[in-house]
Amino acid sequence: MHESELLARVPEGLLINGEWRPAEGGRTLDVHDPATGQLVKQIADASVADGKAAMDAAAAAFPAWAATPARERAELLRHTFDLLKDRAEDFALLMTIEMGKPLAEARGEVTYGAEFVRWFSEEAAHVQGRYGANPEGTGRMIVSQHPVGPCYLITPWNFPLAMATRKIAPALAAGCTVVIKPAELTPLTTMFFAQLLVEAGLPAGVVNVVTTSTAGPVSEAIIGDPRLRKLSFTGSTPVGQRLLAQAAPGVLRTSMELGGNAPFIVFDDADLDKAVAGAMAAKFRNVGQACTAANRFIVHRSLVEEFTERVTAQVKGMKIGRGTESGVSIGPLIDDRAVAKARQLVDDAVERGAELRAGGQALEGPGTFYEPTVVSDVPEGSDILREEIFGPVLAIVPFDDEDDAVRIANDTEYGLVSYVYTENLARGQRMIERLETGMMGLNIGVVSNAAAPFGGWKFSGLGREGGAEGIHEYLQTKYTLTPNPFG
Ligand code: NAP
Repeated sequence: MHESELLARVPEGLLINGEWRPAEGGRTLDVHDPATGQLVKQIADASVADGKAAMDAAAAAFPAWAATPARERAELLRHTFDLLKDRAEDFALLMTIEMGKPLAEARGEVTYGAEFVRWFSEEAAHVQGRYGANPEGTGRMIVSQHPVGPCYLITPWNFPLAMATRKIAPALAAGCTVVIKPAELTPLTTMFFAQLLVEAGLPAGVVNVVTTSTAGPVSEAIIGDPRLRKLSFTGSTPVGQRLLAQAAPGVLRTSMELGGNAPFIVFDDADLDKAVAGAMAAKFRNVGQACTAANRFIVHRSLVEEFTERVTAQVKGMKIGRGTESGVSIGPLIDDRAVAKARQLVDDAVERGAELRAGGQALEGPGTFYEPTVVSDVPEGSDILREEIFGPVLAIVPFDDEDDAVRIANDTEYGLVSYVYTENLARGQRMIERLETGMMGLNIGVVSNAAAPFGGWKFSGLGREGGAEGIHEYLQTKYTLTPNPFG
């Protein structure tokens, strides 16, 4: 389908109580293509009053949706999954246009994002309680699960479909209604997905979408609404910390999927072919703009030079361009600030003595491109080892022994994911116990899966998305005691 035809089919209003409507005062915001800098669409820009209207709709729709049989909710999600698979190419192209990721990766995200819808369609009907005697034998204990209530979901720009489905699908499966606020930079995919839910038969008010250029005030009003019971956020740690403070007065349930600073450790007993392939996937997926992106390559001194030469050769062969062009594996970064950050981190490392092996330059516009880059021998203390790069920069640090590798890997306030390459089973098991991260890729460079509990330790967040755990973020437990029915 032609791009303009696809864009014309994406709604431009706010979805409130089942209707797409303009924002208060007709305010709009512009969405741009980061590969060209061109305007792709103008959409509604919600005000605080619009956010409150969305909250009203979610609160009003909650009792009926919570009472809808789980099988019906499951089938609606399954139908949505089928529609999403049918429209996979449209969703992929839309993500490439608004976010910039290469089309092949956008197709991968459609598969990944759709899996959350299928997974939670299956989970919806499998929520269980328990019944049993208390230890004293004097009573019967009933444990049941209930939807938490209306939820506010805030998503980032880097995975426009998957971050939305990873929250919306478990919420709906559990019987919750939602207001979702996608990122200002990439709102179109969420709007297109919400339209799909409407088409699948979702009742009015169950999912409400607010797109806005004023995330702070709109969110504060929704989070402060006493009818809200849950806040689920994916984004940066500083914003997550601020939202946690805002959620405290309402004692809201919260899920926080925050930033990362993933170590990627290559031991001297690693299979180097696998480690190089894993490194390229863990670093350059989404042009490095993933919370799970490997941030620090910690490589045993005996093979650090060979590892560096091999990744450098691959990086030099990568094609940069708009994600719709064939063969492109490096699309644009999301905006100028992302380019400036990559440049600043690389320059700081080089000034401190790191060696620039490939890349290191921002490209002339239009578009916000930064070359895929390799820096080796990065000195401890460099900003690039402390901060989340969120760009196509592979930073290498040598180490001498296992304790050294663990110390470097854990030397961060983040704890989302780690990657370990070793052919030694006992060493791999030791790493499971020693690395302070919520997830680990052991001889593999991509860990994300709808069936797995995704989430971090330390400053990387609270709660889990996906897996059997994912639906419980939207359920609350009730324990009931009754007397022993036999007297
Ligand atoms: P961000 O600046 O924190 O923004 C994330 C979302 O929060 C956006 O929708 C943004 O809206 C909104 N937001 C910003 N300020 C807000 C405020 N004061 N009140 C309420 N909402 C606010 O992060 P980002 O740059 O979009 O995303 C990158 C970050 O997300 C990275 O740190 C990455 O690691 C993290 N991330 C984590 C995971 C995970 O699962 N752990 C997954 C993906 C990304 P606007 O767009 O309107 O500013």
